Amino acid sequence: MRIPLIAGNWKMNTTVAEAESLVRSILGRLDKIAGVEKVLCPPFVSLFTVSELLKGSSIKLGAQNMYFETKGAYTGEISPLMLSELCEFVILGHSERRGYFGETDEIVNRKVKTALANNLKPIMCIGETPEDNKAGRAEEVLNRQLSQSLNDIEPTHDIVIAYEPIWAIGTGKAASGEQSAATIKFIRNTMTKLWSKRMSQDLRILYGGSVTSHNIAEFISQPEIDGALIGGSSLRPEDFLGITNQAATIKLSHPSIH
Ligand code: PEP
Repeated sequence: MRIPLIAGNWKMNTTVAEAESLVRSILGRLDKIAGVEKVLCPPFVSLFTVSELLKGSSIKLGAQNMYFETKGAYTGEISPLMLSELCEFVILGHSERRGYFGETDEIVNRKVKTALANNLKPIMCIGETPEDNKAGRAEEVLNRQLSQSLNDIEPTHDIVIAYEPIWAIGTGKAASGEQSAATIKFIRNTMTKLWSKRMSQDLRILYGGSVTSHNIAEFISQPEIDGALIGGSSLRPEDFLGITNQAATIKLSHPSIH
């Protein structure tokens, strides 16, 4: 059985003081939700403060990005070595990194390799643009992103894949539960070809894109979908708690069994 995962990507939001107050507002209640892995991904400068607040809780910490070298003359970059002292997870290849900062599948591939080598679990994001979607090229794009970003990487349960159609991120236009489950099934089948049936069936694949406490049920009730990567709603305490609570309850009756 795959353990469901709900991760909050705060993006470039919250000062350190705001991050602290956001964590304090959800900590006790989020900690008590069982049956779902819970991950918070605040900005780099708040990682230390948040890690101190999360100590002794069931909530895990993730970063939103990292560089693919471990140390050296790379002014302004953050290394996996630095993150691994604080975090268990790291989001890699988010569409905002690909779109605004020129991250290619090759760069994502180097990052995934270095993250794994430094005991970080990548939440690797893939997803098609609205144009690719309209032109019926979604599967081709996802296939390319998976094979190139995971090139030369040994099959591992430490990678989580987040399917985030770019047209659904931050737009309020989420994909439907059925649509995203069908695409996630395609992703799992592709992983069977790249790795093996056994490894692909154990791989957690999340949906991301305009998830709120009002629509999470639609996604999480699909056995193919193992959780969600949450942007905007992760900054709203009641929304994030509502999402996580529903994910835990619904997955009990619709487990991701294989
Ligand atoms: C994201 O950025 O990963 C995301 C899913 O954003 P949102 O939930 O705001 O669409």
